[in-house]
Amino acid sequence: MRALVIEDEPDIREALAENLRARAFVVDTADDGTQGSYLARTNAYDIIILDNMLPEKNGYAVCEDIRRTGRTTPILVLSVLSDSWRKVELLNAGADDYMIKPFSFEEVMARIRALLRRPHVMEGDLLAVDTLSLDTKKQVVRRSEIQIHLTKKEYMLLEYLMRNRGSVLSRSMIMEHVWDMTSDPFSNTIESHMLSLRKKIERPEWKKLIYTVPGRGYRMEE
Ligand code: CA
Repeated sequence: MRALVIEDEPDIREALAENLRARAFVVDTADDGTQGSYLARTNAYDIIILDNMLPEKNGYAVCEDIRRTGRTTPILVLSVLSDSWRKVELLNAGADDYMIKPFSFEEVMARIRALLRRPHVMEGDLLAVDTLSLDTKKQVVRRSEIQIHLTKKEYMLLEYLMRNRGSVLSRSMIMEHVWDMTSDPFSNTIESHMLSLRKKIERPEWKKLIYTVPGRGYRMEE
C-alpha cells in the first residue's frame, strides 16, 4: 500500500512516515499544501494523511483539489483543537476521517486500517484467498497454517494483490502502489519480486493463486 503524508511539522511528518514504513507502506511526503495537492493528484495512493494547517494551501483546499479530480483515495485529516475548521466542514470537503493532535501512532494506524478496509467490510484485519491468509495488523502471512516469511517488498506486493484479488493488475498499477517515486519503472524489480513471492506461497501441493495475464499483468485468484 502506498501512502502520502502531507505535514509541515518535520517531527510529526517523519514519525508518521517511519511508522507507516514499519507497517509495510511505501511512503511519499510533502511539507506544504501545494506540493501535497500536486502529488495526491498525480500519483495513485491508497491513503493520504493530511495536516489541516499547512503553508501555501490548507488541508480543506487540498481535500477539495483531490476530490475535484475524481480520486476517491481515503483522506485522514490531522488537526489541532484551536483550528477554526470544524470537522463537518472537512468531511464536506471530502475528508474521510479526522484526528485531533496530539495523537498516538497506534491510534493513527488503527484509523488507517479502518479506512483501508472500507470496501471489504467483512474481512477486518485479515485478508484471505484459498488457504492463504495475511494479517494486516500483525503482518503475518500463512498458507495452509504454515507461516510464510516474506521480505518487506514481497509482503507489500502480496497485500496489494490480495486487496485487489480478481482484478488484473498491470505493471504500472503495481509500480504505483508498491514502489515509491524514486523507483525506476524500467527495471525488472516487479518480475523478480513476483517470482520470489510465488516460490514462497505456491508450493506444488498448493493451489496456484497468482496468474500472469499475458501483455496485461497479474491477477490473484478470487
Ligand atoms: Ca501544520
